[in-house]
Amino acid sequence: MDRRTLLKLLSATALVGCAPTQTNSPLNIVVAGAGIIGASIAYHLAKAGARVTVIDKIGPASHASRGTFAWINATWAKQPRSYHTFAQQSLSGWHELQGALSLPVRWGGSLEWFDGAERVERLVAQIAEQAAWGEDARMIGTAELAEMEPNVDFGGAAQVAYSGNDGAVDPVAATNALLAAAIKQGAVVKAPCELIGTDMKDGRLVSVETSMGTLKADRLVLATGADPVAAEKFADTNLPQRTTPGIIAVSKPIPIILNSIVAAPGVHMHQRLDGRMVVGEQEGAPDNEAHAVRMEGRPNDYPERWIAEQHAARMFAVAEQFAPAMADAEVEDVYIGWRPLPLDGHPVIGASPNRPDVYMAVMHSGVTLAPIVGQLAAHELTSGEQAPNLAEYRPGRNFELVKRY
Ligand SMILES: Cc1cc2nc3c(=O)[nH]c(=O)nc-3n(C[C@H](O)[C@H](O)[C@H](O)COP(=O)(O)OP(=O)(O)OC[C@H]3O[C@@H](n4cnc5c(N)ncnc54)[C@H](O)[C@@H]3O)c2cc1C
Repeated sequence: MDRRTLLKLLSATALVGCAPTQTNSPLNIVVAGAGIIGASIAYHLAKAGARVTVIDKIGPASHASRGTFAWINATWAKQPRSYHTFAQQSLSGWHELQGALSLPVRWGGSLEWFDGAERVERLVAQIAEQAAWGEDARMIGTAELAEMEPNVDFGGAAQVAYSGNDGAVDPVAATNALLAAAIKQGAVVKAPCELIGTDMKDGRLVSVETSMGTLKADRLVLATGADPVAAEKFADTNLPQRTTPGIIAVSKPIPIILNSIVAAPGVHMHQRLDGRMVVGEQEGAPDNEAHAVRMEGRPNDYPERWIAEQHAARMFAVAEQFAPAMADAEVEDVYIGWRPLPLDGHPVIGASPNRPDVYMAVMHSGVTLAPIVGQLAAHELTSGEQAPNLAEYRPGRNFELVKRY
């Protein structure tokens, strides 16, 4: 995002909530969570001159930001239009970050289609809406598809939705690069280091308790993803989430076979710049009690490697139906990711209504949104101003269940 766009986003802001201290000394800000959201906020905070300490109870990109499909998108699923615009602005932020930090983002658009006439009809209408909103989105037919993706078998699909702005990133590399850039600007990263408590004096935060001791803190940022207790425990706020799991399997590098993100019925895939194929499953997990019991503990890994490989093999076999060259792909990594997913499907960003020094940043589509969230959250935290386009996403709103994902 260029400076003029950012200034426009921040115009007409009001002073509230996380106001800076009255002295000129920089704020001490502890960011709990070193996923892509915490890393982006830390990077932008450090750039803005704050004294930043990032802590993570496991390590950088160890949860959703590892087990993510990492599709940077602002397509038909981003509703309503204000949320769509927000995501598109973050896409510009990705271009900017990619230039500044040499991030491994691969642009090439996305191709998406579904089975069933009714769903296809709906997709056509959704893409028409995107085009009316000025996006590079259109339905394309078989001849153009063959040219764009000669190695993909579209299984006879007559029409496929193309969203030209989309890309994908290696989320672990991007998180690490953001943290490295934050460290260069003076930030400190501590891991494994768990946030345990907060210390208050006269109603203001003075420090936080961690598994590595006490850290001085004027502000605390909760970028704790799908953690089910952090909001209640540290921000005194209810943040209802309907966290759902998804399996991501990554292959060892193979020769480049894909140009875009391919979202086919039942499977999503893209290929990283380094040749690794990333495959995400839409459905297919066993629907039985034993499986349900295992998932209760929200595991990120399978109990044994052979079970992980079995799941990945099943997913690669589905992918192979659309990309035959997947037959040669070998499994490198399999991970169960848990989506941080506020009940209404929209991000939660801003100071807790009950603890003004505790700033929350929890969301799905966090890979897409990391640049804009980092930029706006850092601005709000260091200036005490509120960005108008975050108004819809404040903690403390009424959450109603909306199944967007
Ligand atoms: C299967 C799957 C597919 C997805 N696909 C996409 C996609 O295609 N595009 C997209 O934009 N988004 C996608 N998402 C969502 C996206 O990955 C997440 O929104 C994003 O990674 C969230 O990042 P985060 O930093 O908020 O959370 P996380 O990466 O989960 O990081 C939170 C961190 O907080 C730490 N933590 C928690 N509690 C504490 C504590 N008390 N003290 C210290 N540290 C703590 C954890 O250890 C963790 O590292 C997907 C997610 C999943 C699971």
